[in-house]
Amino acid sequence: MADIIQLLPDNIANQIAAGEVIQRPASAVKELLENAVDAGATEIKLIIVDAGKNLLQVIDNGKGMSETDARMSFERHATSKIRAIDDLFRIKTMGFRGEALASIAAVAQVELKTRRAEDELGTYIEIENSVVLKQEPCAYNIGTSISMKNLFFSVPARRNFLKSNAAEMRHIIDEFIRVAMAFPHIFFSLTSNGQQVFHLEAGNLKQRIVQILGNGYSAKLVSVKEEMDYMNVYGFVGKPETAKKTRGDQYFFVNNRFIKSSYLNHAINTAFNEMIARDSFPSYVLFIDLDPSVVDINVHPTKQEIKFEDEKIVYAFVQAAVKHALAQFSIAPSLDFTLNADIQGLDAISKPFTNNEQDNAASSNLFKTFSQRNQAHAIEPSNKNELKSWKEFFEPLAPKGELLSGSPEETYFEYEKPFQSLVTSNQQPATGSQLATHQSPYTIQHCLQLHNTYIIAATQNGFVLVHQQLAHERILYEKYSVAAHGTQMATQKSMFPVSLELVPSDAALLQEILPELQMIGYLIEPFGNNTFVIQGTPADVMQGNEKHSLELLIEQFKHFSSDIKFSKREKLVRCMARQQAIKSGQTLQPKEMIALVEELFTCNTPNVTPTGSPTYVEFKEDYLDRMFQRL
Ligand code: ADP
Ligand code: MG
Repeated sequence: MADIIQLLPDNIANQIAAGEVIQRPASAVKELLENAVDAGATEIKLIIVDAGKNLLQVIDNGKGMSETDARMSFERHATSKIRAIDDLFRIKTMGFRGEALASIAAVAQVELKTRRAEDELGTYIEIENSVVLKQEPCAYNIGTSISMKNLFFSVPARRNFLKSNAAEMRHIIDEFIRVAMAFPHIFFSLTSNGQQVFHLEAGNLKQRIVQILGNGYSAKLVSVKEEMDYMNVYGFVGKPETAKKTRGDQYFFVNNRFIKSSYLNHAINTAFNEMIARDSFPSYVLFIDLDPSVVDINVHPTKQEIKFEDEKIVYAFVQAAVKHALAQFSIAPSLDFTLNADIQGLDAISKPFTNNEQDNAASSNLFKTFSQRNQAHAIEPSNKNELKSWKEFFEPLAPKGELLSGSPEETYFEYEKPFQSLVTSNQQPATGSQLATHQSPYTIQHCLQLHNTYIIAATQNGFVLVHQQLAHERILYEKYSVAAHGTQMATQKSMFPVSLELVPSDAALLQEILPELQMIGYLIEPFGNNTFVIQGTPADVMQGNEKHSLELLIEQFKHFSSDIKFSKREKLVRCMARQQAIKSGQTLQPKEMIALVEELFTCNTPNVTPTGSPTYVEFKEDYLDRMFQRL
C-alpha cells in the first residue's frame, strides 16, 4: 500500500487559512485599513465597488515598502511587526500576525503598488491564488495601494455565502467607522460605487465623533479623562439626552483596538444610573490605554473580545471615570425643547442641581478617589453589588418564555411548574392544545382583568385564564406572517411624515429590510444621508409613535440578526409581534378584552407564543368540580 499523507500545496493551505482571517469583504477592509495605519499614513482612502465583491481598494500615503518587502508581504507569517515571542507583549501596532496579505492573496485577484520615500521607483505586483503573476518596477507616489478584485472568485462556495450588497456594505461601514474613530488625526474617506460616503478631515476626537455620528452630538458630548499608572481612560460620553433606543452609538477601544465587552458596557450603563430611561442606551466613544503586557490581544483576528489581567480594576476605573465626568457636567436642565419626555421626567433632570448636592458630590468617595490620582489601589468598585450582579443585567427582565431566543420546550415546561405544585391530581389544567380550533368556540360574554396582566373569560364548560401580552403576541404573529407571505398589510398613511436619522450601519440595515417592512405595512422612503422618512405604518402602530417603534424594531432585529435559524422575514415578524403586543400592566377595557380573547381563539395555534410559552390555561368544569371534591 502506498503512503497516503501529502503536504497541501501552498495555495490550498493559504485558502484554508484565509477562511479564518477573511470571512467577508469587511474583514479585508479592517486588515487593509489597519496596515495603512501601521504604516504611519496620514491619509487613507477606501474605495468599494459592489460592497467589496468586485473591488475593494485601500490607498495610503504611509511609508511604503521596498521591492523585497513588497514581495515578502504576501508570504504567510511575514510581518515586520514582531521578531520574537516577547514582542507580543509590547505590541503597539494593529497587526502582528503576518497573515492578512497572504490570506487576501489566496482568495482574490490582488494588485499592489508601493513606493518608499527613499526609492526612485516603486514596485508593482499582481498576485492571484497565491501565485505572483507579475512583478515590475513602476512609478508611484509615496505610500501603498492595495486593490483586491473578485473576492472569493476561486472559492465559489464562499462567494455564494456572502450576503446581499446592503448587508455586506453595512459590515464594511462598521469596520471603517471603528478604525476611523480610533485615529481622528488621520484623514479617511470611503467611496462606494463612485459615491462618497465618508470624507473625514483629520482633527481631534470630538470633531471625528461629530463627523461620524452627526451634528446632533456637537453640543452634547461630555469629556472623560482620567489617568493613573495602570491605565488611562479618555473619550466622550453623550449627555443623557443623546441616549438611544438602539444600541447604535457605543464605541469602546482598548489600545486603539475596537472591542466589544458587555462587561465594560455595563460599567458605563451603571455610571449613567438614573440619568437615562431604563430601556435606552447611553452613547459613548471611550478609549482605554494600558500597558500591552496586561491585555491579551493575542485573540483571534476577527474576534473583538479581549482579556484583561485584572478586569475588575478596569471595570471600576471605567465606571468611576464616567461617573466623575457626568458629575462635573451639572445636569441642571437647560431649556431644551427637544428633550425626550421620558428623560424629562427623571429626577436628575427635573430637579435642579443644588449646592447641597454639589457639596455631597465633592465629599463622595468617588471624588476623593480621583483626588488621589495615580494610585491604582485606591480604586475600589464603588458598590460591590453592582460588580457582582452585572451578569444579571443581561438576564431577561421579562417573564420566562418571553425571550425571543431559547428553546421553546424549555420555557414551556418551566412555565408550567407552578401549577404542578398547586394541583396534586393528574387532572391538570390543560394548556391550550385541546382548544386549538380555527373558529372561536365561544362567544365571550364578559371578561375580568387581573393585575392588569391576566384575563379571565368564562367558557361554556369552565373558564380560560389568558396572558394578555403573550396572547396578543400570538395574534399579531399570525397576522404579520400572513402579510409577510403575500397579502400585504394595510398601511395607515401618516398625516405628518416623520423623518428618522440613523447611524450609517443602522441605515444600511434598515435599507436591507425595507422590502420586508413594506409587506407588513411600513411605508418608508430613503432620503439619502442615512435619513429615512416614515410615510406610513402598519394599522396597529399608534400614530405619533412611528419613530420610536421603528427604532425599537431595528434594535431588536440587530440582536436577533445573527440567529441563522430563521429567515430575515421570520425574524422581523417575530420582532414586530413581540414589540407591538399589548404589554402586561396595561389596563384593558371590557370590549378590548373580549376582542382579544376571541381573536386568540381564531388563531391557527392559539395555545403558544412563537417561542413556545403558553398563552392561556384552560380550567374545565369537571376539573374544577374534582378540585372541590364535587365529583
Ligand atoms: P501584519 O500586519 O500582521 O504584519 P500583514 O499581512 O497585514 O501582516 O502585512 C505584512 C507586512 O506587510 C506588514 O508587516 C508590513 O511590513 C507590510 N505592509 C502591509 N501593508 C502595508 C502598507 N499599507 N504600507 C506599508 N507596509 C505594509
Ligand atoms: Mg496587517
